[in-house]
Amino acid sequence: MTESNSPLIIDVAVPLRLYTTFHYAVPPELAPLATTGVRVLVPFGRRKLTGYVIGIVAESEEELKPISAVLDPEPLFTSEELEFFRWSASYYLHPLGEVIKTALPAGINVESRKRQVCSADGMETEEEVLIGGKGVKRETFYRAVPSLELPANLRGKGLRIAEFLRTISEAAAGQLRREFGATPAHFRRLLELGLVEASEREVYRDPFREEVFAHDTPLVLNDSQSEALERIIAATDGRAFAPFLLHGVTGSGKTEVYLQSIAHVLDAGKTALVLVPEIALTPQLVKRFKSRFTCGIAVLHSGLSDGERYDEWRRIRRKEVSIVIGARSALFAPLSAIGIIVVDEEHEASYKQSEGFRYNARDLALVRGKMSKAVVILGSATPLLTTYHAAQEGKLGYLHLPHRVRNLPMPATELLDARGHKGDTFLPQLTSAIAKNLAAGGQTLLFLNRRGFATYLVCQDCGHVLRCPNCSVTLTYHRRRERHFCHYCDYSIPAPSVCPECDSQAIGLLGRGTERVEEEVRELFPLARVGRMDRDTTSGRGGHARVLKGLEDGTIDILIGTQMIAKGHDFPGVTLVGVVSADATLNIPDFRSSERTFQLISQVMGRAGRGDAPGKVLIQSLAPDHYAITHAVAHDFEGFYAEEISFRREVGYPPFTHLAALTLSGNSVAEVEKGAEAVAGVLHSTKRELKSRVEILGPVSAPLGKIRGRYRWQILLKSTGRAELHRLLARFKAGVKLPAVVRMAVDVDPVDM
Ligand code: ADP
Ligand code: ZN
Ligand code: ZN
Repeated sequence: MTESNSPLIIDVAVPLRLYTTFHYAVPPELAPLATTGVRVLVPFGRRKLTGYVIGIVAESEEELKPISAVLDPEPLFTSEELEFFRWSASYYLHPLGEVIKTALPAGINVESRKRQVCSADGMETEEEVLIGGKGVKRETFYRAVPSLELPANLRGKGLRIAEFLRTISEAAAGQLRREFGATPAHFRRLLELGLVEASEREVYRDPFREEVFAHDTPLVLNDSQSEALERIIAATDGRAFAPFLLHGVTGSGKTEVYLQSIAHVLDAGKTALVLVPEIALTPQLVKRFKSRFTCGIAVLHSGLSDGERYDEWRRIRRKEVSIVIGARSALFAPLSAIGIIVVDEEHEASYKQSEGFRYNARDLALVRGKMSKAVVILGSATPLLTTYHAAQEGKLGYLHLPHRVRNLPMPATELLDARGHKGDTFLPQLTSAIAKNLAAGGQTLLFLNRRGFATYLVCQDCGHVLRCPNCSVTLTYHRRRERHFCHYCDYSIPAPSVCPECDSQAIGLLGRGTERVEEEVRELFPLARVGRMDRDTTSGRGGHARVLKGLEDGTIDILIGTQMIAKGHDFPGVTLVGVVSADATLNIPDFRSSERTFQLISQVMGRAGRGDAPGKVLIQSLAPDHYAITHAVAHDFEGFYAEEISFRREVGYPPFTHLAALTLSGNSVAEVEKGAEAVAGVLHSTKRELKSRVEILGPVSAPLGKIRGRYRWQILLKSTGRAELHRLLARFKAGVKLPAVVRMAVDVDPVDM
């Protein structure tokens, strides 16, 4: 308690698009609870909001409004975590309140709403209610009172439950319901007879409760793995931040290096954070961790219910787990004493959040690692150009696994020139390779990066193409649903039988997607068991796991899929990989299109020949001379790097410059354009004021000029120095004012440019 009678003043961040925080007074009765890290309900304009206490303010001159309530009995984040949130907010120029909201599990967020209520005298009044918030799950447990004899008149389920309880220490009501069909009447009866005792306590919702994990032990490492592990271990003993690139070809045993490094860190009493691109796609990895370690492991990913996520979060907060595995947002897990952070498949674009708080978990992992004095391992077979460059410059330790484990060879790869065969899905070489592989009992993966049946519908008479009215893209035909869909906004129309423009019947479908390839495969190979893996076949909980299990169990001979099949799966039965189209990503307007294409093809190729049988890869390409493709086919990362880095140097793109993109969007194209011009004006005057050398490019209409009905204009900032770029952005943000109908998003280090 402070000595004077002046009230406690707190600094509160609210989850709104506001860059300032707000001071509030704390009524004396709430003062002991209002500490840094708790949520408070605060009056804000005419409503009430949940805010986060980020500090205690000594004094304030202003007349301050009091907070309405303190929402948590204990802090949700520590001062170290707050420091990390602040750093992230300032680097990405995003409001702190929104950063904190992103960092906390969704299940925790409560919101207050006004509700009209009728009071006793018939007057309408407003009442404040709190909605949302998952809260804690409680469950009743039953335990036998063994001293009593079981009475003779106890029969049926009641008897079986009583007998069962005598064989174990206790059982949850839920388990007794599931296994014995117990009802409330059974529990009442047993309690009345004094045969059981009940107690209630908090339980966790465990997404893995039904799975059993076999135990396994560390493998004997090969020489490259041992060397990598030794260097990592030496760094963990250094008690300082130590970042590494673990560059290992597909199947070189990177995961085993992670596992043994983590074991070492746990032995030293520290914890581990493991980031993966998307857990639903990597159930095998979770399995390997659960089999190897007996300590508490929390798994965080988008497939969890809010309740499960909240429970996992609480287990971490309470220090009941030593390992956290999760996708992007797990980076904000309330894990303390972090000794190691692993970013698996560090090149994956899914580490970047592309909406709202646009952070990159791969980049922030290095920041959190630095703050925790931890080892950070960025692992990949195809590291980002910028990562490899940093390793070359000595900013990251370079660990190399150049060969597959057990001396398995890299798959034999053949590049097929598809020019002049535009109409065919498969060149004859690919068809016969599939047939041969089928006959030999091997599994085949077929990759192309477009889902749906056909890419678009075009009229041969007037040239009309079906387009989305909300987005600047063509509609994709999905045969099973007989509709044309927009892949950006899900707008759809029934498949027309004549051209909507000129009524001609000469309308044709062009391009192909996974659905069409699946149909062709079924026609070509009627006896094969065919599966498909894309967003359409894996929606819903467990969708990915179902398809992957088919491959694992050998109930699928041929799997057709999008990017999803390129991820780090390890399926020993896959002996043939066919890349149906390798070029689509080369044509996207992005300076990283070559890098993306190289990564994607290398990753898909890496799925072949991971078992005892050697693998084979066939790649159909319309650009067989492109260096991204020739180097991928040759398994030549260094060769690709050398060419790409000189291109980047020439055109002044990362790693030689730092970028930030400003996107202006709104429903009126004129307003958006005007807003973009105004923003550019402010940028130019700020630049003059600061004598900055940051390049301002644009404004121009964005490559996808319209998405979900909103027009988009872009300005790109380019700078050789990161600090200079941030100075300009921060000053500019403080000075810019936009009409309410135009929104601006700032993307620091954008990945889609
Ligand atoms: P990566 O992550 O580099 O693609 P993994 O770690 O998944 O490779 O390893 C590929 C396979 O090789 C796995 O089945 C793994 O169990 C096995 N493996 C890894 N290291 C060794 C080793 N030293 N000896 C034998 N097998 C290994
Ligand atoms: Zn037409
Ligand atoms: Zn659309």
